Amino acid sequence: MRLLAVFLTLTLLTFSAGMFAQTTLSSSSSAPRLEHFDPAMIDRDLNPCSDFFQYSCSKWLKANPIPSDQPGWGTFNSLALWNIAAVRETLEQAASASAKRTSVEQKVGDYYAACLEESSVNRAGLAPLEPMLDRIAKLNDKAQLPELIAYVHQRIRPANLNFIDAQYQGVFFGIYAAPDFDDAKMTLAVLDQSGMNLPSREFYLNDDDKSKQIREQYRKHVAKMLELSGEPSAQATTDAQSVLRIETALANAAMDIVLRRDPKNQNNKMTLTEVQALTPSFNWKNYLAAIHAPESPKYIIAAPDFFRGLEKLIASEPVDHWRAYLRYTALHDAAPFLSQAFLEENFNFYGRTLIGTPTMQPRARRCSFSADIDLGEAVGQAYVARYFPPQNKTRMLEMVKAIEVALDEDIESATWMSAQTKKLAHEKLSAQIDKIGYPDKWRDYSSVEVKRDDYLGNVQRASAFEINRRLAKFGQATDRQEWNMTPPTVNAYEDAQSNTINFPAGILQPPFFEAAQIDAVNFGAIGAVIGHEIIHGYDDQGRKFDAQGNLRDWWTAEDATNYDKRDECITDEYTQDVPEAGVKQNGKLSAGEDTADNGGIHIALGGLKSSLKSQGKDLDSLTKEGLTELQTFFLSYAHVWCGQLRPEAARTAVMSQGHSLGRYRINNVVANMPEFAHAFGCKAGQPMVHANACRVW
Ligand SMILES: [Zn+2]
Repeated sequence: MRLLAVFLTLTLLTFSAGMFAQTTLSSSSSAPRLEHFDPAMIDRDLNPCSDFFQYSCSKWLKANPIPSDQPGWGTFNSLALWNIAAVRETLEQAASASAKRTSVEQKVGDYYAACLEESSVNRAGLAPLEPMLDRIAKLNDKAQLPELIAYVHQRIRPANLNFIDAQYQGVFFGIYAAPDFDDAKMTLAVLDQSGMNLPSREFYLNDDDKSKQIREQYRKHVAKMLELSGEPSAQATTDAQSVLRIETALANAAMDIVLRRDPKNQNNKMTLTEVQALTPSFNWKNYLAAIHAPESPKYIIAAPDFFRGLEKLIASEPVDHWRAYLRYTALHDAAPFLSQAFLEENFNFYGRTLIGTPTMQPRARRCSFSADIDLGEAVGQAYVARYFPPQNKTRMLEMVKAIEVALDEDIESATWMSAQTKKLAHEKLSAQIDKIGYPDKWRDYSSVEVKRDDYLGNVQRASAFEINRRLAKFGQATDRQEWNMTPPTVNAYEDAQSNTINFPAGILQPPFFEAAQIDAVNFGAIGAVIGHEIIHGYDDQGRKFDAQGNLRDWWTAEDATNYDKRDECITDEYTQDVPEAGVKQNGKLSAGEDTADNGGIHIALGGLKSSLKSQGKDLDSLTKEGLTELQTFFLSYAHVWCGQLRPEAARTAVMSQGHSLGRYRINNVVANMPEFAHAFGCKAGQPMVHANACRVW
């Protein structure tokens, strides 16, 4: 699954369940407001051909400093806060007990009320987690691990499936359902690397000073959490060392973040007998029975070396070390839903140290995000009814169609592709499903028990519902209509295995999409987002999947070689230092996203051209603001990527996920485009005109 954005950390903080979930923040930003595209935000004292990011965004950045409760701030973030404020209104209404509440309102309202009731959460202290901690304390034989891990997996928020590029955030290992790489119609069980509580394996393995310093702070944080839970200080210090050693061993065994991008490296299918032979010390039958997983025809072992490493680790680490590891992980995962001391210590490391954010977000906002994570398709119904009128969906579908036509034309005119590959590329595009706004059929949460005085219990029961829902798919037909993002989400994704592109209602708001705006504004913003997601199906990894979503090589050898050469240009271009964060962006990691950005804007421009033509205009026509349509298109594109990250957040983002930072998403893209040079009169030799301009699509 490929996303539009992860680095914009409100999204990162909110949705990468477990690791950052809920470690966000206390108020400081003024009331959320919708942003609109505004040409007055251009800094006309600057030269667009020198640095288009500064030209388009410097005024915006000055007017929008990073709020103290945010790790970064950009147009994505401000829309996300506007959306969540809208969700909050609904939740507040639903929370006031009244006989007239529908069953959906009752569920989400009571969930919100339980979270908001800070004093009773504080009074309860660690008590809501005690049943899990007791189970962990009783582990006295490693043969009991399968049942215990199943018990924990059933109660911890499963990772959001959109965030598993680097590693699945879970405990010990990850389990989820995904289509068979070779026959996408069928869904199989996936067993994946996991169990590390830092954002990526590099955090454990890099040996620069900063990495060492963060590991030392992490070790202290683990000890502090254990101490808060009642361990004597000396014991907590020893246990923290065990936790760090176990997680480092998991990191050593885990697959590298770049290798993980290639689906063939994850496509290792085994029978249960073979899985058992891979890890003889862990009884899979016992685990699968305890977690109530149906049988899967095959099991995808996404990272075989990880399970080999896990086997060695189970054998070598004594049982008390495993108790320490599981105890810390349980505390960490539950911390956002526990009393102040746990909340604060968890935020201190995950919010302050890892992403440099001084303060926590207000509780009401955290509770609204939490409700969206746990009961998203219930919470989202009112949001959609209020803020996503049917005519917006119609307009979106028209834009998507126009942009798909542009890609069809682009494929047809490509000089580097054979007729045979072109034919299959067209077929893939026409088989794609375009999903806009929200699901046709809402998820039914009626079996989730929600209590008005049990926040952690509500999260655990919602998590159990979600993991059961996923595991029930083993061996079933793949559902292409399902959504992996909730309606208020400011993001979008492409899924190669279901051959779908998906745009939640949350991103179909200004400044991305605004019915009252001219086409140049909408095609530059949401149009480029649409283009980005479409191109993911044809990026360096997406191209390996066919029209049916199967991992099958449909390219002639010569076309594949031509593709790789073009891709290499992008990879080189985006490998660059990020000085303020002390890290280097790896173009091999971000290649798919960068290809999607570059190709996406190109086909969005194609869509705009055809739309203008039907109105008797062209790209050089003037708008009422005195800009050309083409200038407006590029400025609108840049506007949605205006933003900045705190250095700590930039470092964590670069090290743990595959999206380039916003300023490169603007400058590298435009510097590859002759259309940009034309729009602003840029000449060869200027920074925004790359001598070796890259172009895949
Ligand atoms: Zn993407």
